[in-house]
Amino acid sequence: MSRLVSVAVPVPALDLLTYRMPDDLPAPPTGARVLVPLGSRVVTGCATGAPRTPPEGATLRDVLDVLDVEPFLPSEVVTLALWVAEYYACGPGEALAAAMPPRAWIASERQVRITDEGRAVDAAGLKGDILAALGHGKAVRVETLASALRPGARGRRRRAAGVHAAVAALERDGLVRVLQPLRGTAHAFKTEGVATITAQGHDVVERLGRDAAEPAEVLRLGARQRAALERLRGAPEGVTTRVLAAEGLPADTLRRLSAHGLVRLARRTVERDPFEREDGTDDRYPEPADRVPTAEQDAALRRLAARADAGGFHVTLLHGVTGSGKTEIYRRLAERVVATGRRVLLLVPEIALTPAVATTFRRTFGDRVAIQHSGLSDGERHDQWRRIRRGDVAVVVGTRSAVFAPLEHLGLVVVDEEHDGSYKQEESPRYNGRDVAVVRGQHAGALVVLGSATPSLESQQNAVEGRYELVALERRVLDRPLADVRIVHMREEYAAEGPEVILSRALREGLAARLARGEQALVLLNRRGYATAVFCRQCAATLECPNCSVSLTVHRAERRARCHYCNYTIQVPSACPRCAGPYLEQAGFGTERVEQEIRAWCPGARVARLDRDVTRRRGALQNLLGRFGAAEIDVLVGTQMIAKGHDFPNVTLVGVISADVGLGLADFRAGERTFQLLTQVAGRAGRGDARGEAVVQTLYPDHYSIRHACRQDYGAFFADEMRYRTAMRYPPVVALVNAVVRGRSAREAMAGAAEIVRRLRRGAGAFRVLGPAVAPLGRLRGEHRAQLFLKGRQRRAMRAALTTALADLPDVARRTIIDVDPLSVL
Ligand code: ADP
Ligand code: ZN
Repeated sequence: MSRLVSVAVPVPALDLLTYRMPDDLPAPPTGARVLVPLGSRVVTGCATGAPRTPPEGATLRDVLDVLDVEPFLPSEVVTLALWVAEYYACGPGEALAAAMPPRAWIASERQVRITDEGRAVDAAGLKGDILAALGHGKAVRVETLASALRPGARGRRRRAAGVHAAVAALERDGLVRVLQPLRGTAHAFKTEGVATITAQGHDVVERLGRDAAEPAEVLRLGARQRAALERLRGAPEGVTTRVLAAEGLPADTLRRLSAHGLVRLARRTVERDPFEREDGTDDRYPEPADRVPTAEQDAALRRLAARADAGGFHVTLLHGVTGSGKTEIYRRLAERVVATGRRVLLLVPEIALTPAVATTFRRTFGDRVAIQHSGLSDGERHDQWRRIRRGDVAVVVGTRSAVFAPLEHLGLVVVDEEHDGSYKQEESPRYNGRDVAVVRGQHAGALVVLGSATPSLESQQNAVEGRYELVALERRVLDRPLADVRIVHMREEYAAEGPEVILSRALREGLAARLARGEQALVLLNRRGYATAVFCRQCAATLECPNCSVSLTVHRAERRARCHYCNYTIQVPSACPRCAGPYLEQAGFGTERVEQEIRAWCPGARVARLDRDVTRRRGALQNLLGRFGAAEIDVLVGTQMIAKGHDFPNVTLVGVISADVGLGLADFRAGERTFQLLTQVAGRAGRGDARGEAVVQTLYPDHYSIRHACRQDYGAFFADEMRYRTAMRYPPVVALVNAVVRGRSAREAMAGAAEIVRRLRRGAGAFRVLGPAVAPLGRLRGEHRAQLFLKGRQRRAMRAALTTALADLPDVARRTIIDVDPLSVL
């Protein structure tokens, strides 16, 4: 009987495939990588065990090779990825790809070589050209061949396609052979040159020291060569060529010694250490005096420790106001869990937060901390991943994707700032790292701690219903008070100061006072750029993105207008593109404008800006936060990036411009997001000895999100928001599944969505179907978008109905994005 194996391949929306194991290959364990044929390609897949239901009658293809004898991914990570694929309705290969380290997938490339028969024939036209080009007998990449044979710029495409077809025809006739060697593994490991002294080298060095007559070979050695031998004699395990070069012993000296057989040059694998680069920032988070937990921290720790000691799956929601010292609780709890031989996974929402947290943990766990986030180079990520996989690591700190870290013996999973939207991946697989973390904890039988000052409605509701345990920290450490919040009604400000005013009087005075006292301030506006719209006063035309249904944002520093969705950009025109009139006006403002205003009002202040525009450069974010932490910047202006988690004790003022920015969005989470953002940013003030203050500017001072955030009253917000969600039947009262259908025209998109809705309504299930409707962002990157929603209690039923409907509509299915538990519905 032949053996069968299920394989996940990294192709969107493709289900598990079944292959046959040839007799001469060992059965791959679950989590091992295999090479399999797929269409005309060879791809890497991940073995997921025996197929549940072997397909009948189908002719199965053979696995070509097994790449790993031991599982490459631990089986619990495979299980987790398959759960993700099922829950979020994506292909298992896509979910597994999210769990793989960089460069784990190997792709084959097509090469072609002439055969003896090929040499013997005399072909005409393109085939003749191909055979002539292969005459040297070496294998050539088909792509190289195609571009070498292209006649000229014109018709390049056609001709290139012709080459592939001609190669196929030649192969069929036996005139060429197509090979598919693998590429992609060679660079996964970083190596460095190492020089070691040989036995012969030792001999020579020994004799160098004696005053006996020197042998001929010693005489020929220059001073540098002698110095190198001396140096290497003292280091039997070898010295890297990089270090030797720094000591004035260059590579050619070593090469000459190597040619004489006195030194051996080799390459060895090294691990890239992301901490190396961050060493400079380490002293910015100075070692705190050994601190005693506060009474509240102590009580929380006791309860959590009891859970951890008991073992088994359990979720605790740690609701602690900003500055209540949650990180310290995580650290102490982790210490306790690691002491019992189990491991810890800690997720943070932002790359920017990993160094501070990782440094804290490094003080306790030393080298047994690894970090995993997309800001690392592929090489660093790969090396950290290997260390975790080998079991050298006790604690992993990382962002969303670290939820798939290959840790075994997991005892504790912490999700810090669990409410944060960055945990949701907005591309396939569209998972929420927080929710996957809970499932991972469940599979592993671990304690899961969700921490936040502003828990998501989902988590709080779970606590209310008793599924999660609630542990609260109601006070800041050392009884520091929460910031005093002052609401500025901008309508009154406009009346007094004119409609152009951006910084209110209260905020200006507050900034001036901070600067005079040498304290620092944060100013938040959750909108990038200089001006948010450009319109013509003559014909009322606005500058819009040709690909998306949004207006272009002016970025003054680069003198360009840019689309924030697709990055389309043009120079800011001086005349109206429609009527050619010269009366173009800019309206609305973003962070760049606020930065300029603050410079104008506070001469001499050191002002910097932190948003996605300035952090595109690698290292820029770290650098800015470092400088702010070192008090080299007085006022930091930024988007939500400045609101999260940071702990800057010298910040005593937080300004919020247009606190209502998010409330206009057609999104049921707008109120929650606004509440979280305002509470979090106000929580950045007054974390040191001086009391903090927040000035919140808004046109809607009576909106409940703003009111409750200013009083930092989570309970009142939760009650109001739940009332709204219950009335409108939104999560967490029901589960939501969103489907967006894309199309070349609005009609095509709507027709597709309507087809799905029709089928869903036909098979009446225990859920409601809403739509089809044009998506709020009706056009995105040149595509039109229509959407529909499923609301109900059973995700399984909704997913199944949607999958069934789409199975009938393969063309629509290709253009449909399914989002289970969507966070943003634009
Ligand atoms: P949270 O994450 O809850 O907002 P942090 O963990 O950032 O709070 O802690 C706030 C500040 O209080 C940090 O500077 C932290 O080092 C400090 N801190 C935490 N616990 C204590 C303690 N027991 N005694 C003194 N300072 C503490
Ligand atoms: Zn665009």
